[in-house]
This record gives sequence, structure tokens and C-alpha cells, in this order.
Amino acid sequence: MRLRVLGSAAGGGSPQWNCGCANCVAVRAGHASIDSALPPGVLRAPAEPRLAIEPRTQASAAITGDGRQWFLLNVSPDIRAQIEAFRALHPRRLRDTPIGGAVLTNGDVDTCLGLFILREDQPLVLYASEAVERGLREHNALTRTLERRPGQLSWTRLRAGEAVPLVGTAGPSGLTIEPVPVPGTVPLHMKGLAAPSPDDNLALLISDAHGHRILYAPTTAAPTALLDERARAADAILFDGTFFRDDELTSLGLTTRSARDMAHWPLGGPGGSLAWLAELPCRRKILTHINNTNPILRAGSPEREALAAAGVEVGFDGLEVEL
Ligand SMILES: [Zn+2]
Repeated sequence: MRLRVLGSAAGGGSPQWNCGCANCVAVRAGHASIDSALPPGVLRAPAEPRLAIEPRTQASAAITGDGRQWFLLNVSPDIRAQIEAFRALHPRRLRDTPIGGAVLTNGDVDTCLGLFILREDQPLVLYASEAVERGLREHNALTRTLERRPGQLSWTRLRAGEAVPLVGTAGPSGLTIEPVPVPGTVPLHMKGLAAPSPDDNLALLISDAHGHRILYAPTTAAPTALLDERARAADAILFDGTFFRDDELTSLGLTTRSARDMAHWPLGGPGGSLAWLAELPCRRKILTHINNTNPILRAGSPEREALAAAGVEVGFDGLEVEL
């Protein structure tokens, strides 16, 4: 099994279009850009390369069991650029895609918006819980563009605790996925339209024929016994790295909601996820869905050093796990 991180940022990406936080400024400053004062095509040198932070697209991953057919784990608003940046996802013929389907962990805009970018009459198999499917089909007219003709989009229901084989448009993948319900929230745009459901937010335990396992848990509000059990059974875990501190956004004056209020378990502080991750026996522990304000993005920061001491990696676009 091979997993590729297509995007490692939380919603908004890094930099985020309307954000001038220290990290977003550093991402912009660290990258050569066209300067209109210079002759056409001349690149401006990075202003402060010392502060450079790699840009990140919004969280998504791709997995394959056979190296030919790939499945997207969430379809971020950046999916078009993410496909172009990864040769294995390019078409092999005039009209074609190696992408056989997609699995959705929740119904957030950041998780689903890219589906509508993949609308060019391309058959896809979509794995989603009932809550996510209802949100997309009953409360969003745009979904009809993915269902213009029978068979364009095939829905496969995810039910908590029921492992299902991952079968795409090109047939079986050799992989199975077990949806693991984790604390989350109803998508913001669905508040008042749908009652909270235990399958609003899932982690995915992906297994291959050799018994290798990866737990993909990009958004998790709090620990549970089931999450702990499934994480201990995994060779690798990709986990919610949205915020380091519970007050990360409130201390910047950006919101009155804490990380926990926003359904993200912060890494640091009392009861943070880093201490839990440090104890897991997984061979690889990788953070994804990292918010652009998070200090772990800065090399040399105390928070980044705390991760290294715990054996936890900072995910980046293009990172791969092969088992
Ligand atoms: Zn920012």
C-alpha cells in the first residue's frame, strides 16, 4: 500500500488568501515571485529565505493498493493543482484518470468542494456516511452536476465499524477501509439543517492484503477509547495537526472559538494530543491538516522541537508512506 499526502494544510491552505499572520507572510516572502518592477519573467529573490515556510495545499491524500488505481481521501478545493503536481494521477489516454474513487471523512466544504472540480462527466465511486451523502444530495444543487447521467457517480455507504472493500471504477483495489467514528461536528453550512450524527466525522483505518494498516484521521475533536485502539493497531497514523494551542486563534484576536470549540484536539497544553501520539507504537506518526497559524510550521520553534522529541513528523505536500 502506498499513501501520498496531496495536501497537508487545514482549510484555507498556507498561505490563506486573506491571512496576514506571521506564517502566511513568511510563506509569501520565502518564495520567488514575479515582480512587476523587473523585466517580464525575472524572478524576485526571496526577501527573507531564513523564514521560509513551504506553501501547503488543503488536506487530502491518495492511496493505492496496486500502484495503478488510486483513491482520494477527501477531495480538497485544491484538487486540480494536487493532481497536476503528482504524475501518478495524470490521465494515460485521451479521456482517462487513474482515480477510481474518493472517500469522504465528513461533509465540510474543505473536504468535499474539490468533488465539483472533478465534474467532467467522469465516473467515480464515492464512499460516504449517510449524514455526508444526505448533506451533499439533499442540500446542495451542485451535486446534480456529478449525477448528470446514471452511473456517473456511484455512492457506497460508510457505516461506523463496518470494514468494506475499496472498489473503484477499475475494480477491486486490494484495500479495505474501516470507518472509525471520531468526535467532530456538523459542517458549519449544515447547522440547523441536520441533527448531529455519530457518523458526521470519521477516521479511516485502511488495510492491505499483507495486513499493513494506516489510520487517516485528519480531523479529530477529542480522544476516544476506539480511536486509541485503532491507532495502536496501525503501522502509520496521519493525524489532526490543525492547532498546537487551544487558544491559537483567540490569542491572535481572529475568533472567540478555541481549537476544541472548532472540533480540533490541540497538540500541546494540558491533555493535548502530542502526549498521546508520543506513546503510540506506530512506525510513522505524521501530522496533516495543519493550520497556517500553527507554530510547528516554523523550523527551530520550541513547538517543532517538541514534535521531534515525541517522534512525530510534520506532514508536507508530497510526503509518502509505503508499507
Ligand atoms: Zn495565516
